[in-house]
Amino acid sequence: MSLKTDFLIVGAGIVGLSIARKLSEKFCDSKITIIEKEPEAAFHASGRNSGVLHAGFYYHAGSLKAKFTVRGNRAMTDYCLANGIELNPCGKVVVAKDETELDGIYELKRRGDQNGVTLDLIDENELNTIEPNAKTFQKALFSPTTSSVNPRLVCRHIAENFPRNVDILFDRLFKKLENDFVVTNKEKIEFKYLYNAAGLYADKVAQSFDVGKQYTMIPFKGIYLPYKDNNLLKRHVYPVPNLKNPFLGVHFTKTVDQHVKIGPTAIPGFWRENYDFKSRFDAAEFLEIIARQAKLFLFNNFNFRSLAFEELRKYNRKYFINESAKLLKHLDTDNFGNYLSPGIRAQLLNKRTSELVMDFVVDHGPRSTHVLNSVSPAFTTAFPFAEFIVKKSEGNYD
Ligand SMILES: Cc1cc2nc3c(=O)[nH]c(=O)nc-3n(C[C@H](O)[C@H](O)[C@H](O)COP(=O)(O)OP(=O)(O)OC[C@H]3O[C@@H](n4cnc5c(N)ncnc54)[C@H](O)[C@@H]3O)c2cc1C
Repeated sequence: MSLKTDFLIVGAGIVGLSIARKLSEKFCDSKITIIEKEPEAAFHASGRNSGVLHAGFYYHAGSLKAKFTVRGNRAMTDYCLANGIELNPCGKVVVAKDETELDGIYELKRRGDQNGVTLDLIDENELNTIEPNAKTFQKALFSPTTSSVNPRLVCRHIAENFPRNVDILFDRLFKKLENDFVVTNKEKIEFKYLYNAAGLYADKVAQSFDVGKQYTMIPFKGIYLPYKDNNLLKRHVYPVPNLKNPFLGVHFTKTVDQHVKIGPTAIPGFWRENYDFKSRFDAAEFLEIIARQAKLFLFNNFNFRSLAFEELRKYNRKYFINESAKLLKHLDTDNFGNYLSPGIRAQLLNKRTSELVMDFVVDHGPRSTHVLNSVSPAFTTAFPFAEFIVKKSEGNYD
């Protein structure tokens, strides 16, 4: 069987869906087809994240993340409000454990100011009013525009409200490129232009187009534990992160339905969809990723050794909970429930420099655009990021 489309998008996560949304606005007479290997949208990172709409103060001015987070937060908020999708405008505080973290607080404030983010530098008394259970050393940050959504509901709403020129084909695996066709597990698809938004497999899809050969994906698993008392906190409480890593550290999230959870971790995964100890196991991937991690461990690139040890320790429930307890005045460490469903970050590694790539990467190939490294906060940034991707690729259309 074969199909014909104008625009073919690989992946029905938030990025693929947002690209389809943008294309359908711009090219209302073109046929847009999304292929998704799972039976529903947002099956991976887009449906398994913390659901936080970030404000935009973590990122270096000039980065794509900095460019799109403030606008993305606003655009996603407007989309939710306009469509009756629940949003919790709870805000967040970032706290310092001790004196050594104060520089991190000031650096985040500087970055926030450069990126045009509303962000207040507060003292302990102000923190006490804003989030009475959070504790800090002298200074903290308050971000009133950080909020929460249910990411799966947002994606479902987008997927169910496309105009008639957009089709989503589920259970369709991109297998390879063959001349002018994409071969899936069910058919061949002839396309004019392709967008690769395949998340954990974006590097593999890109490499079929001879794009991104210097990159590979390293999966990092984020696990969560729910707290049983919703009154523990009113807002998100985050630590000062290690700004050399793309992860934000174990924090408390206030979910859209007022629950409280801790996580996510950034534990190195052993295969891409390594959600638990056996499902979706792929021997070839396992061997490739283990070999890559062994090399990073041996040469200790970007301090991988201590990152791996520190993160693997968080599989120990008690250790994980005790880490989070450092952010609060009161926490009943026995009051956590069972593990929630984990998420896996599709973190890009540059094989030439052995460094984790910090910013989003968008690259072009023949008749195609590839979104590599759509890590956090790509959920928050999805709408303006998709607009940028489509605009950037227009010069590449024949
Ligand atoms: C634990 C965790 C917490 C996070 N927290 C936040 C947060 O609070 N706020 C925020 O803004 N961001 C957060 N993020 C980041 C955010 O979730 C991602 O940046 C975003 O979801 C990426 O979207 P995506 O569409 O690129 O990828 P995905 O959602 O992974 O979508 C890719 C899709 O491509 C499909 N696919 C892959 N290969 C193929 C193939 N060969 N053929 C067909 N289909 C294929 C997959 O099945 C998948 O559905 C978090 C991420 C994680 C993992």
